[in-house]
Amino acid sequence: MTTGPTLDVEKVRADFPILQRTVHGKPLVYLDTAASAQRPLAVIEAIDGFYRNHNANIHRGVHTLSQEATEDYEQARLKISGFINAPSEQECVFTRGTTESINLVAHSFLRPHLQAGDEILISWMEHHSNIVPWQLLCEETGAVLKVVPMNQHGELEMDALEEMLTERVKLLAVVHISNALGTINPVAEICTLAKQHGIPVLVDGAQATPHQAVDVQALGCDFYCFSGHKMYGPTGIGVLWGRYEHLQAMRPYQGGGEMIRHVTFEASTFNDAPGKFEAGTPNIAGTVGLGAAVDYLEGLGMENVAAWEAQLLAYGTEKLSQVDGFRMIGTATNKAGVMSFVLGDIHANDVGTLVDLHGVAIRTGHHCAMPVVQFFGLPATARASLGVYNTFEEIDILAEALEKTIDMFA
Ligand code: PMP
Repeated sequence: MTTGPTLDVEKVRADFPILQRTVHGKPLVYLDTAASAQRPLAVIEAIDGFYRNHNANIHRGVHTLSQEATEDYEQARLKISGFINAPSEQECVFTRGTTESINLVAHSFLRPHLQAGDEILISWMEHHSNIVPWQLLCEETGAVLKVVPMNQHGELEMDALEEMLTERVKLLAVVHISNALGTINPVAEICTLAKQHGIPVLVDGAQATPHQAVDVQALGCDFYCFSGHKMYGPTGIGVLWGRYEHLQAMRPYQGGGEMIRHVTFEASTFNDAPGKFEAGTPNIAGTVGLGAAVDYLEGLGMENVAAWEAQLLAYGTEKLSQVDGFRMIGTATNKAGVMSFVLGDIHANDVGTLVDLHGVAIRTGHHCAMPVVQFFGLPATARASLGVYNTFEEIDILAEALEKTIDMFA
């Protein structure tokens, strides 16, 4: 149990220019980091600096700017690789984000050897981006999508998972931290079990990389996917980490410039990974911004980030439960800073709209995880999600706004 603040939160807040603004005349209380985090000045300035000073296309030019841009791009890859403890930066492919990373694995890794009757295993708490790509593959190939159940707290049924790991399963794709429930899944344990059956594991790490230290080697997974914008970096940039032997064996995802070694009209040969998967001009400034976000998080220290958010979560869980009609959806023992809830029988969208009038930004709806809200028999939930810049006072403001909301409907 942590005893004191682990971050100088006022100093952190000063790093985020947007937190100075007001909404409906009230100071902004941003509790929607799970949807997209805000950006620190360091990230904004890194992107600005790139465009002002080094902008050019990468890998192709002999001129100075092109070489500088290439250096920036590859430097960002190196930073990312260190951040997740990848054995090599060559295993880190830049993508548009988690969604594209998962689709890349679906098309290039799984599809070529998937057959009718094969199974793809996912969990009940997946984001749509870790459901729909597999459904599309199943439609094409006759493979079957199987879903590992969860309990009423939003925890995976590990016994069921173990039983479902049969020789028919060709991939297990599981979320590290649920965006809808906050559940932290026991990914290392899951990978150990899957490995006993020779089943490769893809981990959706979109909600994990911003909130806790991630070590892909310690987890033992085969693929790890995440997005820049969830971790205080830019939109439109993300990463697929994959074991090099997989990446080398995989078909290209898209064809085009950059990913080739030699092209004739008869046939083409391809680059080694990661270049093979980075067709066309990439989001170069995005990688620079993501590299700056990694520097920023490492500057704070991921242990400190996780400890700070754990304190906020404990406080928030206690504080919000005192609000009349508040019911937390997602009560896993091992949980990150996501508080999904319902308030009496008020529709979540009304809750979200009314707290916005107090300057409080929360998410409402199905959080791109419709099966989760269906599981709890709800049309939607409201969700307050935490980031490094949130404070105990902001949770108090949310609690007050919720009390006023419930009073309005009384
Ligand atoms: N998985 C999870 C758990 C997420 O929270 C999200 C974003 N909400 C995604 C995948 C998809 O990420 P992106 O939209 O950045 O591709």
